[in-house]
Amino acid sequence: MSPAGPAPRPDGWPDPNDRTCDDCGHVWFAGERRHEYADVAAASPEDSDVVCVLCRRQRERPRSEERWAGF
Ligand SMILES: [Zn+2]
Repeated sequence: MSPAGPAPRPDGWPDPNDRTCDDCGHVWFAGERRHEYADVAAASPEDSDVVCVLCRRQRERPRSEERWAGF
């Protein structure tokens, strides 16, 4: 396990890897970048976007750093 670990997921929510990325349409399969819920505080999983980790980083990035640095 990496120190950061996967993003927290509320109990009972389905695996976000089962949904396509809402930003880029990425479809997860074994070995691919994982998907995460964008809003784990949403009332239900359907109310939260699911994004791949790349899109999630882009969403978290401030406007002034829109261009992804690629780390
Ligand atoms: Zn994506």
